[in-house]
Amino acid sequence: MFNDFIDFVREIYGIKKFIPLHEPKFIGNEKKYLKQCINTTFVSSVGEFVKKFENKIAKYTGAKYAIATTNGTSAIHISLILAGVNQDDEVITQPLNFIASSNAIRYCKAKPIFIDVDIDTMGLSPSALDSFLKKNTTIKNKKCINNKTNKIIKACIPMHSYGHPCRIDEIKQILTKYYIFLIEDAAESLGSFYKNRHTGTFGKLGIISFNGNKIITSGGGGCIITNSKVLATKAKHLTTTAKVPHKWDFIHDMVGYNYRMPNLNAALLVAQLENLDFFIKNKRNLAKKYEIFFKNTECHFFKELKASKSNYWLNSIILQNKKKRDLFLKKTNSKGVMTRPTWRLMNELKLFKDYQSGALKNAKYLQDRVVNIPSSVRL
Ligand SMILES: *Cc1c(COP(=O)(O)O)cnc(C)c1O
Repeated sequence: MFNDFIDFVREIYGIKKFIPLHEPKFIGNEKKYLKQCINTTFVSSVGEFVKKFENKIAKYTGAKYAIATTNGTSAIHISLILAGVNQDDEVITQPLNFIASSNAIRYCKAKPIFIDVDIDTMGLSPSALDSFLKKNTTIKNKKCINNKTNKIIKACIPMHSYGHPCRIDEIKQILTKYYIFLIEDAAESLGSFYKNRHTGTFGKLGIISFNGNKIITSGGGGCIITNSKVLATKAKHLTTTAKVPHKWDFIHDMVGYNYRMPNLNAALLVAQLENLDFFIKNKRNLAKKYEIFFKNTECHFFKELKASKSNYWLNSIILQNKKKRDLFLKKTNSKGVMTRPTWRLMNELKLFKDYQSGALKNAKYLQDRVVNIPSSVRL
């Protein structure tokens, strides 16, 4: 089967040499818009493309407002500040995750709590969340107090893993009941919808990443999306050094951050956005091919939920056990077909090992078995 897989990937990509996991594609107006920036000298913090991008992404996701940032991590950091998270607080996130959320929680000097994921979404599990909160917390004055630490659990950052929407509406209901602020990590899920609503628009704040490996890229970049005018205004202010608008003077009214996306990056992104629909169609088509290939094999191909429409950013398979997974990784990578295991669980990293966790049965199961397979757009 492993050799058949390598042949199959070579055939569908029509490439004899190295096949990467995911590479960006620049097939539209990228060069034209970048040239425009250079010709007009607007390459940095001033220029039309940032605003253009913010309008486009808001329209595409259905969010009322979008605020461009330097990357997805800075968008999470600002979202946590807007949620009022500080050193006395705790924030729930999932252990099967890229490190951005856990790091951003620590930037605020708050403490992460790791709650299990669902096997069929790889995203935060509403049932694990509910049972943890039921067992371990008390509501006092509309605040969710952790019985063990006496600290407030102020926010929660679920994530849509590899582009597949998690059960975000159920998560939202539970968090509302417990007065916990929802920040949605849609870094990987631009173009993914749950019950016909774009991921990242369920939370009070959502974030998207445009890093080089994501479905579209600005080189580096991110954004915050929200329906709240108040939060949008504050987010813009905080990401742009908290400078008070003035014709010439330099007045800053609080400690702000220099998290603004440069015009050059936004120009690249505006061009990329013009091809997003094509990329998604192309990726869903690729996923269909993989699904058929893996039918009746020992590997389970990871599919979207019925209620979801996934962008299939990175295709995943689940192998029978860790030994099989390691063999698969070894074979494919040695033959020039790039594959990768899923992330190390956050709670198992040395720097996060002392923080609280729920039972993490599903995360551990997936950690041993999930492999990402080549998922670039095919031209
Ligand atoms: C990519 C990513 C981010 C943000 O990463 P940046 O490189 O800072 O843009 C955040 N969360 C997840 C799950 C990601 O995959």
